[in-house]
Amino acid sequence: MIIRKTPEQIDLMAASGEILVRCLKMVTAKARAGVTTEELDAAAEKFIRSQDAVPAFKGYRGFPGSICASPNSMVVHGIPGPYELQRGDILSIDVGVIKDGWVSDAAMTIPIGPIDRGARQLLDVTKASLFAGVAQMQVGNHLGDVSAAIQHSVEAEGLSIIRTLVGHGVGREMHEEPQVPNFGEPGKGPELEEGMVLAIEPMVNARGPLVRMGDDGWSVYSEDDSLAAHFEFTVAVTADGPRILTPWHEES
Ligand code: MG
Repeated sequence: MIIRKTPEQIDLMAASGEILVRCLKMVTAKARAGVTTEELDAAAEKFIRSQDAVPAFKGYRGFPGSICASPNSMVVHGIPGPYELQRGDILSIDVGVIKDGWVSDAAMTIPIGPIDRGARQLLDVTKASLFAGVAQMQVGNHLGDVSAAIQHSVEAEGLSIIRTLVGHGVGREMHEEPQVPNFGEPGKGPELEEGMVLAIEPMVNARGPLVRMGDDGWSVYSEDDSLAAHFEFTVAVTADGPRILTPWHEES
């Protein structure tokens, strides 16, 4: 069952998302060569708790961090640790916040200093695919419209959608129904209705689409060790169109 949210509940989720966006901007500003991912994690946790909120990932199924920090060929679910960022890296940062019982979830992949053309294209294409998916979050559309828009915008650029990792409904729980694949057919899947809130999160490999698990049981890597990117928003379907509840793209 897909749990629809009232406009008041969506406002509460947006308040959670506002904290998340401030956290994400603070962390991305700190992320530079020589900084470790555990330093970013500590800063994120401190900030989130200072807002009377809770890091949603910390302790989730035993995950030890407040953020996921996934460099280079790591796609998602990177445990923050002693890894020191280097010039030319890309780093995916995923943050979840619980405020007043409402979860928000968002991610972005950032360059650490100058990056090469291939890495830049990967980031640009993955981010654009997120916006293409969000544009389909209209009452009366189907989930497949969102999925297909993401898939087509990525595959048209010769990059690979990862099929085994998907987005999800979000609300009082971090993972609610439905699953949101980043590939699909227009017109298929559940019809989108006012009040549905989804975490839309394209995950893209620069070469092949396959992934493998890391030894820590959490981290996921591209199987061919090519670079991977991840951009995510929490988005509500409203009568006025899609409402991005974690607007990290907006100037603050
Ligand atoms: Mg998510």
